[in-house]
Amino acid sequence: MADAQYDPDNIFAKILRGEIPCHRAYEDADTLAFMDVMPQGEGHTLVIPKAPSRGLLDADPAALASLMASVQTVARAVKAAFEADGLTVFQFNEPAGGQTVFHLHIHVIPRFEGVPLKRHEGGMADNAVLAEHAARIRAALEAGR
Ligand code: AMP
Repeated sequence: MADAQYDPDNIFAKILRGEIPCHRAYEDADTLAFMDVMPQGEGHTLVIPKAPSRGLLDADPAALASLMASVQTVARAVKAAFEADGLTVFQFNEPAGGQTVFHLHIHVIPRFEGVPLKRHEGGMADNAVLAEHAARIRAALEAGR
């Protein structure tokens, strides 16, 4: 079977074009980070490249380099903003790999001793809570944390 192609109408492409809203935590020329609407833990953030790719395998290595730099920036800010004990960072490829949105994205989730992750695609979080979490991350970034 041929490899699946990038669909420019996927939900993260729509977020990048400003067609649907997101709770923005960080943005630079190449990447965007925003709150996951169905968080697996408090502060669950997604970091995406602006360049189109379905997943890891079809991404331009230069886009991966800027993406991982942003993941590190966001991970530091998320850890500080939520006073987390640790972080879980993960990425899925294709339905068999657990992927549900087909624009490359890296999950960054603050972790706390003894607190398990909630299940993937669990409940929708409250908008006001997500807005406050995004603001907390932006404040940590502004404070250089
Ligand atoms: P994955 O299984 O890695 O493709 O995960 C996709 C993630 O995107 C899931 O954790 C969803 O909760 C999240 N998600 C789906 N739609 C949106 C959206 N409009 N804004 C933010 N996160 C979303």
